[in-house]
Amino acid sequence: MTTTDLPAVAGFRGTLFVPGSPGYDDARRVWNAAVDRRPAIVARCTGPADVVAALAHARERRLPVAVRGGGHSIPGFSTCDDGLVVDLSGLREVHVDPKTRSATAGPGATWAEFDRETQAFGLATPGGEVSDTGVAGLTLGGGIGWLSRMHGLSCDNLLAADVVTTDGRLLRASAQELPELFWALRGGGGNFGVVTRFHFRLHPVGPVWGGPLMFAPDEAAGVLAGLQDLVADAPRELSALCVLATLPPSPELPTVLRGRRGLVVIPAWFGDPQTGHEWLDRVRRLGDPLVDAVGPTDYVSLQCSTDAMTPPGRASYVRSDLLGPLDDGVLAALVARWAEVTSPFSGVLLRVTGGAMNDPGPGATAFPHRSSRWIATAAAMWEPGGAAGPHAAWARAVWRAMRPAAAGTYVNHLDGDEGPDRLVEAYGGAERLHRLAAVKAAYDPDNTLALNQNIRPMA
Ligand SMILES: Cc1cc2nc3c(=O)[nH]c(=O)nc-3n(C[C@H](O)[C@H](O)[C@H](O)COP(=O)(O)OP(=O)(O)OC[C@H]3O[C@@H](n4cnc5c(N)ncnc54)[C@H](O)[C@@H]3O)c2cc1C
Repeated sequence: MTTTDLPAVAGFRGTLFVPGSPGYDDARRVWNAAVDRRPAIVARCTGPADVVAALAHARERRLPVAVRGGGHSIPGFSTCDDGLVVDLSGLREVHVDPKTRSATAGPGATWAEFDRETQAFGLATPGGEVSDTGVAGLTLGGGIGWLSRMHGLSCDNLLAADVVTTDGRLLRASAQELPELFWALRGGGGNFGVVTRFHFRLHPVGPVWGGPLMFAPDEAAGVLAGLQDLVADAPRELSALCVLATLPPSPELPTVLRGRRGLVVIPAWFGDPQTGHEWLDRVRRLGDPLVDAVGPTDYVSLQCSTDAMTPPGRASYVRSDLLGPLDDGVLAALVARWAEVTSPFSGVLLRVTGGAMNDPGPGATAFPHRSSRWIATAAAMWEPGGAAGPHAAWARAVWRAMRPAAAGTYVNHLDGDEGPDRLVEAYGGAERLHRLAAVKAAYDPDNTLALNQNIRPMA
């Protein structure tokens, strides 16, 4: 096919990609290389009018619709076979208003772009911890990151969203306007419409102290238990991400550490440096660190600090849960299953949660899980083209080890094959799913937006 074969999409001003047209292969690619789908059309939009036109085109031709923000959906919901991708990756503008401490973001913005703009004014809002993840998908599912213990989830900081519905209306949802839609957008994922602008509350953030500590595998369970106790009494200014990982054979690392397995703990402190030093020292003393690179840093650098572990273009499969307190048995089982890892790129991530993330009542937003201590993810990653089986089996085995401590599951970490019970768990039970299904029926009654952790419209 040549570019002359591009379909006529009435009213569309953006760029269309179809099989065979220049740029199609790049346009159909998503973060997870295990997902290799061939949409009929990728419609790269220039604004809400293009979204309306693309949705109308898909509706008339009964094409499946995928919506793409940052493209990080692990099950690959932002692409599809033989359907139309509403590609928002060209809409990346971020505008900061330091006076009102708020910012708007286009639906194609990544956290790297958002953080860069907001930090120029010493401000930030909770985002994901990998900088090329999209603001859009992450926020609509909840959004857990470095600032969540201090300032809650990304969706807790959403002030308003502009939404194009599948029948072509442009709506504003906020606490004052369409509050039920606003409730559903904060945790219900991309089920209700295509969000074309996000409006966030910002907080002063900086300076930051933090950086990686690495402990030997035989210290891992003890260090995690110690960190759990320490965080229970710590101020919200302390956060930490732990990764049971295999270090890369990087020439930047001392020879003895290259390719070595261990527990990497990255503590971060967002408050007064004097008090922070005391807390960071207490984290250091949880074991005998082989590496200690804790020091002064800044929020933008912290937000990129694990990017190298999750580059786009690897195949991936994850299993994840929010967890309550981890007892010694669960910790020992988790570390033992991790040790059976099948790829040097795979790891188990454990982020401490709690604090402000658990402040809102369970009914305040569609994101329901407000009592966790950890979010843990068995992230299998391997070279594209390799068989998924052993890596996925490893991730499931790690997940089974953590399961006794489960306190809910996170919709943004759910895979595509986990079944209806897990969907009910992610959305916080049958009653809440029922409420979400009523909102779905009001805004997307034909379930045009079905490529997501799907909420069926109430009949
Ligand atoms: C490497 C990596 C790191 C991650 N780290 C974190 C983390 O630190 N914290 C965290 O909470 N999560 C994290 N996640 C999970 C992440 O939140 C989800 O994968 C999220 O869906 C990604 O959003 P996206 O816009 O990049 O994805 P996309 O693949 O573009 O979209 C994901 C879903 O959102 C829908 N969607 C996207 N944009 C819109 C829109 N504008 N309107 C309506 N629906 C839309 C899509 O249809 C799709 O169902 C991570 C994922 C990866 C791969």
